[in-house]
Amino acid sequence: MTIPSKFHIKILTLFPEMFPGMLGMSLAGKALEKGLWSLETVQLRDYAEDNHKTVDDTPFGGGAGMVMKPDLLDKALRAHQPIGRFIYMTPRGKPLTQALVRELIQEPQLTILCGRYEGVDQRLLDAYQAEEICIGDYVLSGGEPAAMILLDACVRLLPDVLGNMETHNEESFENGLLEYPHYTRPALWTGPDGVERAVPEVLTSGHHGKVAAWRQAESEVVTKAKRPDLWEQYRAKTKKSK
Ligand code: SAM
Repeated sequence: MTIPSKFHIKILTLFPEMFPGMLGMSLAGKALEKGLWSLETVQLRDYAEDNHKTVDDTPFGGGAGMVMKPDLLDKALRAHQPIGRFIYMTPRGKPLTQALVRELIQEPQLTILCGRYEGVDQRLLDAYQAEEICIGDYVLSGGEPAAMILLDACVRLLPDVLGNMETHNEESFENGLLEYPHYTRPALWTGPDGVERAVPEVLTSGHHGKVAAWRQAESEVVTKAKRPDLWEQYRAKTKKSK
């Protein structure tokens, strides 16, 4: 599938001023300036009907915290129709993986709902068939940083954002493995522990085949040691022995 040349994002949030935030800097920021992707924010509070601009209410069944109101969110969504996939950032979602990021950038547009408090009334999510995505097994105070992480991972893969597409192919998770270690000049370096460390000899050999084999082997070693879960999946896929 070809990746659309323009990626348009609509964010529904109680904190539009948080955007573009870090996405306005570095690679993503330059890409935003160049128009390779665009961002539109919707202030959910604008759709509150009372004088206090209430966006949440106490949970049915009792318990701590507040829940974002479905009627308010519906009003915002009717005024700003979701475009492309409609995503809700939540710890209860499917994990954000590199494979999912690759899938998301096939879409020209995404709408992302950022939760706050205890989250969003389930009926709204059901009615709009929200795709629930989690950025990791921990709880943030809001969906905005989660949306930024998702978008950062997407934007760097868009055509013309990062020059060398080969950079992506060898990166962690792309082929089911973590990446091999990197080294740069100086070839000999003494650390604060007084130990002089050299870069692995093969990397200065100029032998491309040997470098590639060493990198593949290192990727396998590091994945096996640090991410046995990924290693098992890789092994099953490639029929590698233990
Ligand atoms: N009560 C929720 C739970 O236990 O699953 C946590 C709510 S959290 C305090 C508020 C909002 O932050 C969520 O609605 C969601 O939008 C966002 N959020 C928190 N952790 C997240 C994560 N790991 N991935 C994606 N979004 C997250």
